[in-house]
Amino acid sequence: MGQTQETESRKLLGRLREALASGGAGQERLDRITQLIAESMGTHVCSIYLFRDADTLELCASFGLKAESVHKTRMRLGEGLVGKVARTRRPVNSTNAPAEPGFRYMPETGEEIFTSFLGVPIQRLGQVLGVLVVQSKEARQYSEDELYGVEVVAMVLAEMTELGAFLDEGAALSPLHQRPVVFRGSTGQEGAAEGRVLLHDPRVVVTNPIGDDPETELERLRAAVARLRVSLDKMLDTASSGDEEATQVIETFRMFANSKSWLRRMEEDIARGLSAEAAVEKEQSAARARLARASDPYLRARGTDLDDLSNRLLRELTGQGSDTGAERPENPVLVARNIGPGELLDYGRELKGIVLEEGSVGSHAAIIARAWAIPLVINAPGITTEALTGDPILVDGENGVVHLRPDETIANAFRDKLAMQAKAQERYSSIRNEPATTLCGETVSLQMNAGLLVDLPSLSTCGAEGVGLFRTELQFLIRNKMPRRGELAQIYARVMDAAGDKRVVFRTLDIGSDKVLPYMKRTEEPNPALGWRAIRVGLDKPGIMRMQLQALIRAAHGRPLTVMFPFVAQFDEFRAAREMFLEELEREKVMGHALPAEVEIGAMLETPSMAFAPRQFFEMADFISIGGNDLKQFFFAADRENERVRRRYDTLNGSFLGFIQQIVNRCNETGTPVSFCGEDAGRPVEALCFAAMGLRSLSMRPASVGPVKHLLRRSDLREVRKVVEEARANGDQSVRPALMRHLATLDLSVEPAQPSQRAAG
Ligand code: PEP
Ligand code: MG
Repeated sequence: MGQTQETESRKLLGRLREALASGGAGQERLDRITQLIAESMGTHVCSIYLFRDADTLELCASFGLKAESVHKTRMRLGEGLVGKVARTRRPVNSTNAPAEPGFRYMPETGEEIFTSFLGVPIQRLGQVLGVLVVQSKEARQYSEDELYGVEVVAMVLAEMTELGAFLDEGAALSPLHQRPVVFRGSTGQEGAAEGRVLLHDPRVVVTNPIGDDPETELERLRAAVARLRVSLDKMLDTASSGDEEATQVIETFRMFANSKSWLRRMEEDIARGLSAEAAVEKEQSAARARLARASDPYLRARGTDLDDLSNRLLRELTGQGSDTGAERPENPVLVARNIGPGELLDYGRELKGIVLEEGSVGSHAAIIARAWAIPLVINAPGITTEALTGDPILVDGENGVVHLRPDETIANAFRDKLAMQAKAQERYSSIRNEPATTLCGETVSLQMNAGLLVDLPSLSTCGAEGVGLFRTELQFLIRNKMPRRGELAQIYARVMDAAGDKRVVFRTLDIGSDKVLPYMKRTEEPNPALGWRAIRVGLDKPGIMRMQLQALIRAAHGRPLTVMFPFVAQFDEFRAAREMFLEELEREKVMGHALPAEVEIGAMLETPSMAFAPRQFFEMADFISIGGNDLKQFFFAADRENERVRRRYDTLNGSFLGFIQQIVNRCNETGTPVSFCGEDAGRPVEALCFAAMGLRSLSMRPASVGPVKHLLRRSDLREVRKVVEEARANGDQSVRPALMRHLATLDLSVEPAQPSQRAAG
């Protein structure tokens, strides 16, 4: 890099800072900046294009192009050379712009006389905010140094745009983090919430993009890198006691932190006039842009590592973000890229909503959100970059939509919707103690799903008759080491205490697949959902399963105990697990411990094979619980964790309902009680169909009990069954349309919670 260029660039940034400090309206500042850049680079034109909306770039300031084209000239993303720079996030450097493929001539600007073109993205953290362009009449070749200098200026512009430096009434310069944005993700948990953003991992705000003195900035950078290295060494020392994965991640971090080229690039940015923070962010942005282009998963993962490392370095430099929860807004809505169950539990139930950039519906965070009935939207890309702690936010869990910084009209409509939901809930509470008896006189037992002690109070408030599924794995997942028998026994006893005389169905540990214990050696499996999980782990590692069974027996201490084994795929597995339980009962008896007053041993039916199990299986099982989440994924061969396929098949698909009916029939043949405990049981229309297929027990999240009960009490199962049968006979793929037509004829004065077209779960 040439010394002169360095000084030139620094000089320009210095003048830029003066221009920004000298006040004036946003438009005035932008105009001054374009003039400064053009003069300092000796070009005829300098223009700044910013995004008006997600797809449209607008010429917001120009020195050299016709003044009347400012705020008039617009182009779509990808259109013309400017649009190309924005779309590809890469510079375009051309001596003969009109000859470039994709060049688009804008007559109103008078740019036909300018031959050479250099455009660079104005971007921050991989998000393109606009394009900075310089143009000259002659066929000029902009040098690498000049390109680099323009990139540095663009970086400063990005920071200033972000900070609202160009905000001007009436102008199209609404900066990032101030305008309303809508995110369309997917439903993780229904419900609606209004609150303020609480960023899980707050981003560092750079307030001083231009450095005063390169020497001071270099020193600051080097000192921060040194502190970062020490902290990584410390992390490695603590992690090396067995956690292979954490060790690997930290090793990669260390590799980057020691990378000479990374440090050199940042030093060069500082020499050009950036502050240490802006230099780190510039490299981070570049890495993110590269990451967005990489298709190789390995490269993408490495890019994410570098991104995390840059964040750490920024925190070292600014001291921001290291404190936790200091300024927690009221009605917090947690916004995160992704979050583990332990971290979510730390935030607690006071969260009004959760929005994740990634996440999946079967993840534990989702399960906890569901247990807490907190609206959750997943797959909302870009929200962690756009949202700031304290921003107003509306979460529409039903439709998977998030309104960030909504305008008043949207917010008011949303509040109306919230008020309607609250009213409906109030009305549901009036039937809390009534049975779910249908118009044709059939009564369906409604139970609730739970997984944490804190869920239990819902039992009395939601109107459930008992806990139809208690997922025991959460107790294992939220710890960093295997819980002890005594600890578990205490928790289970408290669950039973809280349930009083209501029945609790304890499902033994269901780990593997999406539920990975942080302290158990991880085995790479090509298809984890079809892999070593649940009862398979329990039978192969009997120590854990026996310990859990003992804890359950001790917790019951003379009370009735109900245990259920998950993911049974053949009769022998159930037989072996049941045998294990009976042995543990015998052992407890020998040891003189109080035995449960009575025991029920059931099986989950969540693999299609068990629908075809021998009659003896149904005779041996004290009860069967259909795990629809898993059963559905295997029935349709559609991974419940994979957003691309999991909503493809409607639960009300005629064949699936027929399959459920077959299972119910098999249970009825042997008089085996059968229930359904997958997520679909909590969707009113689905629940109605299951009841019509003969199910008389459904277990769901607490918030669903009211809406499901309401719909059942207003329905005649014989009619529903007729509708289902006719639709199936007609060859309808899904019975939903026919059923919705039927429901439209009924008097449902309280709106049932809107069923999603295709169920999640
Ligand atoms: C199911 O598969 O339907 C179920 C209830 O179990 P989980 O969601 O915990 O796998
Ligand atoms: Mg399951």
